[in-house]
Amino acid sequence: MLDDNNTGELPQSDQDLILREQLAEHGKSVRVTVFANIVNAVILSALFFDQAPLAMHILWYAMFAYLSISRLHLAEQPKTMDLSRANMLKLKKRITFNAAGYAHMWGTGVACLLSVATPNQLMLLAIIGAGKMSTAVVSYRHIPEASRAWTLIVCVGLTAGLLYLGGIESYAAIALLVMFAAVLYVNCGNIFDNFANQLVAGQEIRRSAETVKLLLNDFEEQASSWLFSADADGRLVDVCDRFAEAAQQPREAMNGMKLISLIKDEDHRQLLTDHIVNGRPFREITVSIDVGGDQQWWTISARATDEVSGPENVALRGVIEDITAQKNAEAKVSYMAHFDGLTDLPNRRLFTETLNRTIHRVEPDDQVSLIFFDLDHFKAINDTLGHPIGDKLLQMIARRLEKLAKPGDLLARIGGDEFALLLTGARADCADVVAGSIVEKIGEPFLIDDHNIVSGVSVGVAAWAPPMDDANQLLKYADLALYSAKGAGRNRVAFFEEGMDVAAKARRNLELDLRASLGRDEMRLHYQPLIDLKTQNKIGYEALLRWKHPERGVVMPDDFIAVAEETGMIVQLGEWVIRKALDDAANWDEQLTVAINLSPTQMRSASLVSTIVNALASSGVDPGRLELEITESILMQDSQANIRTLHTLRNLGIRISLDDFGTGYSSLNYLRSFPFDKIKIDRCFVSEIDTREDCRAIIRSVISLAQNLGMTTTAEGVEREDQVEELRLEGCDQVQGFLYGKAEALEEYTDLRSSDKTIPHVKTVYLPAAEVPVITDRRRKKA
Ligand code: C2E
Ligand code: CA
Ligand code: CA
Repeated sequence: MLDDNNTGELPQSDQDLILREQLAEHGKSVRVTVFANIVNAVILSALFFDQAPLAMHILWYAMFAYLSISRLHLAEQPKTMDLSRANMLKLKKRITFNAAGYAHMWGTGVACLLSVATPNQLMLLAIIGAGKMSTAVVSYRHIPEASRAWTLIVCVGLTAGLLYLGGIESYAAIALLVMFAAVLYVNCGNIFDNFANQLVAGQEIRRSAETVKLLLNDFEEQASSWLFSADADGRLVDVCDRFAEAAQQPREAMNGMKLISLIKDEDHRQLLTDHIVNGRPFREITVSIDVGGDQQWWTISARATDEVSGPENVALRGVIEDITAQKNAEAKVSYMAHFDGLTDLPNRRLFTETLNRTIHRVEPDDQVSLIFFDLDHFKAINDTLGHPIGDKLLQMIARRLEKLAKPGDLLARIGGDEFALLLTGARADCADVVAGSIVEKIGEPFLIDDHNIVSGVSVGVAAWAPPMDDANQLLKYADLALYSAKGAGRNRVAFFEEGMDVAAKARRNLELDLRASLGRDEMRLHYQPLIDLKTQNKIGYEALLRWKHPERGVVMPDDFIAVAEETGMIVQLGEWVIRKALDDAANWDEQLTVAINLSPTQMRSASLVSTIVNALASSGVDPGRLELEITESILMQDSQANIRTLHTLRNLGIRISLDDFGTGYSSLNYLRSFPFDKIKIDRCFVSEIDTREDCRAIIRSVISLAQNLGMTTTAEGVEREDQVEELRLEGCDQVQGFLYGKAEALEEYTDLRSSDKTIPHVKTVYLPAAEVPVITDRRRKKA
């Protein structure tokens, strides 16, 4: 705050304010003061009329008149003049000079009269002198420069007069006078400081009031929050427009309404009532509000007011914020994190969280069953009919599954075409029935955009049993059961059994061994002859892979090709087979063909064509001698890309055979999708050709279809002469089977070499594959 009239430290605006107020305040009492001075002057002049010459009286009155008029004039100035700082300072200076003039008159006047005064008059002069000094402090209290000048000048005048008088009383009077003047002098400053301090404080209060007002205005204008006040009963008072608008109620109707009546939830109403009744402040209590049928979320903060004030008795003031948008966004994020966007079913995350919680709380007697299922050949549906249809199918499946689930079950989509159902309590006991219904319901046709889609589903079921300690184990068991359902031919239910775990471990070991074998010389190619039925001549050989493992012995392809497929190792392995088979064939008679089996993962490998082209070039084998055997599964997956690759290969002069025809997802449609050179009729039909009429009928129609399409037919797995006879009658072109020879190592054959060629030893060399995709999708397992 101010100290001793030191306004220089204040901001310019405050200094101006003080100046303005100094001048204004000075003007207020000036008339009375001037009037009092005139009365004083008249009395003094009258009392000393005879003791002073007339000229002095006239001079006295003239000066008085001049000073009084100018004082009145100066006091009026602020009302009309331009209140610039310079002007105000100038005016203040003039007021000070005017005061000094007055003081001079009084000081000199009284001093002169002292010398001629009678003892009685002396007393009067003393009163006037002292009075003049002290009243100045009052009348010029707002302009300390003027009051100080006045005090000093009067004091000096009186001192001079007293000195002239001389005598001990005069000296004593001087001492008293000087002390008196000093006190007044100091007080002039104090009075002014108080005045200025009050002004500055008032100014600050005004300023902060303005700031608060601005803030409140801002706040009111903010769309999401508003202020409210209520009485001691929590009845709303003076409801603002924003509040009424947010609550979608008329403002008048809301005044007097209880705040809690807006709140839906009973617990929140109770909580707020407690706070209001006890006058406790509360912050950001989130409540749900029903606004025109919509649920909204508000946070309410409030505190009791100090004064129960105004006609409405405001006892509580607070702020409400509408956080509905924020709440909705949070809910959406949480929904997206826990639900699948396509089917609206809980997703893997929500499923595993719930499963973990369930297993965490499980008691030894509780029952929990986990059903895992996965659509059969979903990828083929996606590839052939397009993703939009695949998506619709998943949605329709989700709706059918929802009908099977009961309250308390948890149905989730945990990935692509994989779903899971968690059953607890008594429902867990019915897991077998539920799993059966899943197969049944999903097996019913789906009609999507004029496509009649029939999709199977493989289901694995595992039940929680006491030694299991975590959810992962249950998940793993259900997965193993699912895997087993697929292995057993899909579209069925399998329950987890102890052995499955062992089988999974065994498979894992096989995978590790197979990976290790890639660096060693453990693979061999055996060759099985193909016979022309008409001439009974060997026309070529099919290369069949054997794995000579130091401990496992000879491992047959059925036991490791699937693993190589799933892990992607087949690409490297297959490239070796291609090079080795062509190198071998290069040493055979040039009439003999060589057939190589290709698996789906190999087909997808970007390096397949270049591997074949390079192997043909380096071996010098005519592409016309090479036959590539593929199965229908290749046409079911990524069919367009695979068909393009097949065309590329066929354009090189290589022949393409459709292997194992009649098994798996056979469809005559596949014969139309690519111009195969040969169909190999699976041995399951051949083995029963002489005993089952339906097998013979199938063989007959396949052969006639192939003939119409200009394709050769080979019957596989021929073991007996009577089968050969039947096949000849049906018009089959070629046969292959144990009757003519098993797959043997090259060394066993003596009739392969053309006279001028020797068999070079080709050591197993694995070149790194250009692309080794790691496939974990079990659906690619050969059906
Ligand atoms: P596949 O292509 O159908 O090969 C014919 C399978 O039937 C061979 O079994 C063969 O030994 C067997 N076989 C031939 N004649 C008869 C018979 O008269 N009676 C019986 N019971 N079986 C007969 P293998 O060698 O065990 O091969 C099994 C499958 O492994 C093959 O079936 C083929 O799909 C796959 N495979 C073999 N080598 C390769 C390869 O190099 N690459 C790929 N991708 N797959 C291969
Ligand atoms: Ca084959
Ligand atoms: Ca075959």
